[in-house]
Amino acid sequence: MIYDLHTHSNASDGFLSPQALVERAQAKGVTALALTDHDTLAGQAEAAAAAAQAGITLIPGIEFSTQWQGRSIHIVGLGFDPAAASLKQGIERQAASRTQRALTIGERLAKAGIHNAYEGALELAGASVLGRPHFAQYLVRCGAVKDVASAFKRYLGAGKIGDVKQLWPGVEEAVGWIKAAGGLAVLAHPDKYDMTRSKLCQLLGDFREAGGQAIEVISGKQVNTLTDKLARLAGQFSLAASCGSDFHIPNQPWQELGAFGKLPDFCQPVWQLLPGHQAS
Ligand code: MN
Ligand code: MN
Ligand code: MN
Repeated sequence: MIYDLHTHSNASDGFLSPQALVERAQAKGVTALALTDHDTLAGQAEAAAAAAQAGITLIPGIEFSTQWQGRSIHIVGLGFDPAAASLKQGIERQAASRTQRALTIGERLAKAGIHNAYEGALELAGASVLGRPHFAQYLVRCGAVKDVASAFKRYLGAGKIGDVKQLWPGVEEAVGWIKAAGGLAVLAHPDKYDMTRSKLCQLLGDFREAGGQAIEVISGKQVNTLTDKLARLAGQFSLAASCGSDFHIPNQPWQELGAFGKLPDFCQPVWQLLPGHQAS
């Protein structure tokens, strides 16, 4: 079995449709997949149908944006009931937060002489989650900048007029949504937050206290020393271990579907905690 429990489709910021993602996962030998789009379940139904066709297991998934001590932290939910009211409320809250931020970006850009940016970005986003990349595309389209990179450099990047901080819920709130829906809460990519070891331990303690059950011991291709370090931390905090590619786009070999090492033997794999798991 190859479990890939962290992937994205074009329902959020991934490149492939949910169906194309599932087909690629099957081609790469993945046998159990979680589609974990940012703050949305919009791709789940299409992914489930494609998984049934492909003969692979689809585990319901999502990746929530949260904040902890002023930092942006991602919490993956796995194996929940997708129809649960708590998830629906959580997703609505996240959408409202994104909309508020996007409106503020639009107002700020208007002050800089760029009008209708919110409406333009919304149209460019279509069915996917509205974000800064859509504002960047709009700035290119209306001729304010020559390309997306310049859009970030002049208007949207850190410290620029369109750099608006987002207000995300606390870690414990998102963990609560996932658990109330019968799912498992997993701390995503612990190594990507640029924290000291003591800060990370503090986060792990708070996460576990909130009801979190696992951490991503593996996130894409990574060195064995990192896998080992995270596996030991998981053990130290009595947390199970998850693994995933964090796939977004083809041709990024370090995020290829299913293409990462195995969890160390001493870890408890998170899938053993999933409802309906058959211990083997
Ligand atoms: Mn992403
Ligand atoms: Mn993430
Ligand atoms: Mn991700």
